[in-house]
Amino acid sequence: MREVPPIERAAQVLRAGGLVGFPTETVYGLGADAENPRAVKRVFTVKGRPASHPLIVHIRDARELEDWALGVPETAFRLAERFWPGPLTLVLRRNFRVPRVVTGGLETVAVRVPGHEVARSLLSAFGGGIAAPSANRFGAVSPTTADHVREGLGSGVDYVLDGGPCLVGVESTIVDVSGDAPTILRPGGTTRENLERALGRSLPVHAESPVRSAGQLPLHYAPVARMVLVDADQVLREAKRWQGEGRRVGLLLPPGSLPADTQGIGHAVIAVPGDMTEYAGCLYGFLRELDHRQCEVIVASLPTPEGLGLAIADRLRRAAGPRRCLVP
Ligand code: AMP
Ligand code: MG
Repeated sequence: MREVPPIERAAQVLRAGGLVGFPTETVYGLGADAENPRAVKRVFTVKGRPASHPLIVHIRDARELEDWALGVPETAFRLAERFWPGPLTLVLRRNFRVPRVVTGGLETVAVRVPGHEVARSLLSAFGGGIAAPSANRFGAVSPTTADHVREGLGSGVDYVLDGGPCLVGVESTIVDVSGDAPTILRPGGTTRENLERALGRSLPVHAESPVRSAGQLPLHYAPVARMVLVDADQVLREAKRWQGEGRRVGLLLPPGSLPADTQGIGHAVIAVPGDMTEYAGCLYGFLRELDHRQCEVIVASLPTPEGLGLAIADRLRRAAGPRRCLVP
């Protein structure tokens, strides 16, 4: 009997109303047929995600935008032309054919054209839109390998496509273009600077918006360990303090602060890359590694919020949660 190639098998699973874990350039997604409300509902169940938190619809290219959105503004087409395929999600007015379960009851819909070859092949083989959030339990660290998806969701996911580790490593940037002024709802893999250059205007980040985004929840993308954020020059001292209290401490040491002798300064020490693209690519892997090493506390500092540093700082802040964050 002919063995069905993985992409075709995954497309069959989607057609049958099943859930597929698939790689994108940002993180792994948990995909369902965006036009099948029962399948989409299962995404929420498997993730443990509240029904009010909408999913991103993945499409093949910008020509399909109007199948999903109404009154697509010029700004959206300009951003799509410049950044798709790639780590940018556009929030637009919902086309009535988009099931409400996909948009969490909102009148807007989030749409993206992913750049990963496997995701693109899957979209072509399937032939429709794929509604997908990140393939992890709600609030947990996002998966950047196929193994993370299997470990996190187990039998909740019907099929997992393995495309190797995700290169961008943080989620897409979400830009709301449904209102008068474009706004960044979630910083991510497309930098604010590049978006502003393309639009010739400045873009506010996280401005109060009528739309809710899971990425805007305070405690999200969180490791099991308690995350503590301090100034870069205080990481070692703060780690020692926790260690003095008998805690297993993990450190995300900022560039240039690695002492010659790391003996005795914590249970697990990771020197983070100075290059923000590299850091973003490893960030979730680092958090998983420190959880894996059973650290109780992770001490880290925020990078400068420029380029991908903005998305990294956002994820670290959310991993720390407002109640736990020592830095305002
Ligand atoms: P996840 O990858 O699990 O974080 O899920 C996809 C992200 O897209 C979440 O942060 C959603 O809340 C966000 N999203 C999807 N649709 C919308 C929308 N209509 N408005 C704002 N954010 C959205
Ligand atoms: Mg997520």
